[in-house]
Amino acid sequence: MARKKLIAGNWKMNGLMADGVDLAKGIAREVKALGKPGCEFLVCPPFTLLTSVKKALRGAKVALGAQDCHFNAKGAHTGDISPLMLKDAGCSYVILGHSERRADHGESDELVCKKAAAAHAAGLKTVICIGETLEQRNDGKAIDVCSRQIMGSVPEDSTSADTVIAYEPVWAIGTGKVPTAADVEEVHAAVRKVLSKKLGKSNANKMRILYGGSVKPGNAKELLSLPDVDGALVGGASLKVDDFLGIARNSGC
Ligand code: PEP
Repeated sequence: MARKKLIAGNWKMNGLMADGVDLAKGIAREVKALGKPGCEFLVCPPFTLLTSVKKALRGAKVALGAQDCHFNAKGAHTGDISPLMLKDAGCSYVILGHSERRADHGESDELVCKKAAAAHAAGLKTVICIGETLEQRNDGKAIDVCSRQIMGSVPEDSTSADTVIAYEPVWAIGTGKVPTAADVEEVHAAVRKVLSKKLGKSNANKMRILYGGSVKPGNAKELLSLPDVDGALVGGASLKVDDFLGIARNSGC
């Protein structure tokens, strides 16, 4: 089953208007220069930059995503953003359940699942993040933790068309530490098995599972050539055009 790789940038809480637009323009220029890339591209800037980045990406095959959403369509939820608002701003994706949101905002699997269902209902694709802490990995619980997160965070009726999974070991995010290729493949293969149980074999075989955590141009080739790794969710390295595109180029895009 051929799954087109997705190279996704999570800008997190970075970028004022001028820098964000420059970055988006640079990415758009380089993606256009690839001609017909073998990968799909996605950038997820902060909410404040969505509409400007959308404009800056015009004409380039780069999708726009946000980094979170509420599960309601509208109403009295001060400071929140609804899936419909994201769609209206030009997004086709939203990242949900990132470990920074799980840690900083106490987001549970149940809440992530509710948000994902609402995002799907609004016509957005979701990138649902899972991943173990260092303590959990050292206790040999990485696969149990990820399996539980998949069971709890992914809506029952999700399909390969509306859902992407991102496996991001918490201890690898922003640290420069990366699991061995064998460890990454072991988790991805286990995640696909759980997806198969939950969503059926066909969805599981077609669903993209990204790896995230200190992906750089230098390690992209090894990580993204693993059989069950279908792209990357990139944090720090997505803030530099050369690094983001270097990851894509080194992954055969
Ligand atoms: C992330 O936060 O999604 C991430 C993978 O960050 P980094 O690439 O900086 O480790």
